Amino acid sequence: MKKVLIVGAGLSGAVIARELAKFGYHVTIYESRDHIGGNCFTERDHETGVLIHKYGPHIFHTDDEEVWKYVNSFQDFVPYMNRVKITSQGGVFSLPVNLHTINQFFSKTLNPDEAVAFMQTQVDLSIEEPETFREQALRFVGPDLYHAFFEGYTRKQWGCDPDTLPAAVLKRLPLRFNYDDNYFFHKFQGMPRNGYTEMVRNMLNVDKVDIKLGRKYASHDRAGFDHVFYSGPLDGWFNYDLGRLGYRTLDFERFTYDGDFQGCAVMNYGDFDVPYTRITEHKHFSPWEQHERSVLYREYSRSCDTNDIPYYPIRLVNEKALLKKYIDRVECETGVTFVGRLATYRYLDMDVTIREALDCAAHFIECEKENRQMPAFLSSPL
Ligand code: UDP
Repeated sequence: MKKVLIVGAGLSGAVIARELAKFGYHVTIYESRDHIGGNCFTERDHETGVLIHKYGPHIFHTDDEEVWKYVNSFQDFVPYMNRVKITSQGGVFSLPVNLHTINQFFSKTLNPDEAVAFMQTQVDLSIEEPETFREQALRFVGPDLYHAFFEGYTRKQWGCDPDTLPAAVLKRLPLRFNYDDNYFFHKFQGMPRNGYTEMVRNMLNVDKVDIKLGRKYASHDRAGFDHVFYSGPLDGWFNYDLGRLGYRTLDFERFTYDGDFQGCAVMNYGDFDVPYTRITEHKHFSPWEQHERSVLYREYSRSCDTNDIPYYPIRLVNEKALLKKYIDRVECETGVTFVGRLATYRYLDMDVTIREALDCAAHFIECEKENRQMPAFLSSPL
């Protein structure tokens, strides 16, 4: 059987490794970090014993039943509802914007129909087809809620004017005229009981997978392998020679607390003069565990420099133009497939990452059977 090299032991790499190893391929994984799991890595905090999401909170949610069954076969998922709060302008409010938020914020006692009518008086109906983040917000929640919850937060998160961001960034969030404060609207939602690292470890617990941690990939490493699945940064594959694709990175300021610091897992901070975007209290991500002490992260967003960890792809006009140039370069490549968040330069939820990795492995097996060439991208990342 053929030999396959996978670069990166995050979700994409782990799923492809498992699926191909099960099929009989010899799989080698090079992972530059000293651990598996990519950015959904979880570990016990040394001081408090709390399970922490080292690279920021990851809450699993999906409508894809097959993906849900797949992740549950490696870890028991405990039902978990992401209920986010936001501190802004001296108050604490419920997110995503729902009937409770509207009533609290405007000091009203509206029922759903009254709230719909009231919001019609708030929003800017002249904006027919919102193109920017700001227009999307003004069209759907109006200026007061926009200033309180979205403007300052978004400036901090993206480091730019919300007028320069596409409407799609805000479209991730729903607006509800009932008291449903579930941040996500997917059918399946949960947290792996013992963390994502154990889930990924179980995925990789299969014969014929050889994992090399702390091993940074270099182009000569391809020799001796029949195919490479690359989940590192797309521009990194080309030694950044056309320039760097822009990302936002995050700084986490860890602190501990004796007791319950904020009473919820995620507290956003909407005011621009509070320098962090949110505080996460990790013991609330595992509410089935008991911990007296608490560990928290203040989260700061900034432009990603050469040695920083890339988190959010910026994907504005300039970045897309550069992305296009790298994609053109990829068209000359054979024997490599680019997978996952970094290699396709897209913001990806975990369920989508797993779905794409499953499809990618299946497609590869098919191509091999039919003696066809495996494409570099399964779908265009533009
Ligand atoms: N956002 C905001 N205020 C909030 C939460 C989100 O302005 O309290 C904006 C922000 O620009 C963010 C976008 O809405 O990037 C999408 O929110 P989501 O929670 O999906 O952000 P992510 O999970 O990407 O951090």
